[in-house]
Amino acid sequence: MADSKDHQSPLFETYARADLAFERGEGVWLETRDGRRYMDFGGGIAVNSLGHAHPHLVAALKEQAEKLWHVSNLYEIPGQRRLAERLTAATFADRAFFTNSGAEALECAIKTARRYHFVRGAPERFRILTFEGAFHGRTLATIAAGGQKKYLEGFGPKVEGFDQLPFGDHEALKQAAAAPDVAAILIEPIQGEGGIRAVPPQCLRGLRELCDKHGILLIYDEVQTGIGRTGTLYAYEHSGAVPDILASAKGLGGGFPMGVCLATAEAAIGMTPGTHGTTYGGNPLAMAVGNAVLDIVLADGFLDHVRDTALLFKQSLASLADRYPDVVEEIRGEGLLIGLKAKVLNTDLVAGMREAGLLAVPAGDNVVRLLPPLILTADEVREGMVRIEAAVASLSLGNQRKSA
Ligand SMILES: *Cc1c(COP(=O)(O)O)cnc(C)c1O
Repeated sequence: MADSKDHQSPLFETYARADLAFERGEGVWLETRDGRRYMDFGGGIAVNSLGHAHPHLVAALKEQAEKLWHVSNLYEIPGQRRLAERLTAATFADRAFFTNSGAEALECAIKTARRYHFVRGAPERFRILTFEGAFHGRTLATIAAGGQKKYLEGFGPKVEGFDQLPFGDHEALKQAAAAPDVAAILIEPIQGEGGIRAVPPQCLRGLRELCDKHGILLIYDEVQTGIGRTGTLYAYEHSGAVPDILASAKGLGGGFPMGVCLATAEAAIGMTPGTHGTTYGGNPLAMAVGNAVLDIVLADGFLDHVRDTALLFKQSLASLADRYPDVVEEIRGEGLLIGLKAKVLNTDLVAGMREAGLLAVPAGDNVVRLLPPLILTADEVREGMVRIEAAVASLSLGNQRKSA
């Protein structure tokens, strides 16, 4: 009898997954059930900031798991207050709202910016200016913010109020920001999915001035760049141009799902009781892990270590680029958020690295992203380079000719 089931995978077919399943991890290493070991330079897409199974994080999660998992935001959650105090002490911000993901942190940022103008008597100011090549998440509002056709197609009318500007077109930006219906500018200090494309520090400072001039808010999407990834707690510190609102997630939980929207007290004035909420956001398990991540990232010398490791890694990659100009076009990025712009297909290079025992992540602009854990050692950089070079060499024309 024909049944209506197709006996394919019971999962939505939304992902093109590699045929690889891991059973355990430790530090930079991931291991399959049959014992194959890989160096994880993808970090679950910039999430495993402290590698796999970090003892301090495991202990924090276990300890909390035995006490209390969830109570809802109807009650005080001491871990939330503590994490908020630490994040605001370390940044421009005065207020924090915890979420479960990056997209939700962005949703909170967008709502906060619109409410700011609403309560100040300018409800017509609701438009958010964003940039081509941006990625802000997969909710209906954040795909509208990103503005990429491939993510919008087929999902009905694009959510109203998001305008994409060409990356780096200062004139277009100045003109758009002067419009009377603009609430905020939303930007990634370094585009992640877009191909590790950095906004020059002077441009971020220019954005800050432009926002001040027109009374609009500056929102940074630091979901990928935050929590030490670029060698500072947040990437905006490199420029000195502070935002009004910032969305953070990925590395903050080190693998436990969580995010946060940070804002100045002024920017958050519209977010009064009842205006926003979440069931799970900021739950005790997530807060225990987030606080444990900060214990390490904010410890004396940790970010110096990240910068030293990043320098060694980048120098090694630059030398590789010199030796294989037919495969590597450019090395870009900041800290341990590194992009290798390929001259071969980036997905071929990612596959080659995987064959050589190293995991990396493709990005836009034909880039391979290298996002190792921040605890990476110099020896692990060298070991990783051996694998990266093996993959690059195998795709180099010179070598293909030799082996032919
Ligand atoms: C990953 C990412 C998001 C979305 O985060 P999710 O947790 O997948 O919702 C948003 N912005 C940037 C810059 C990201 O890298």
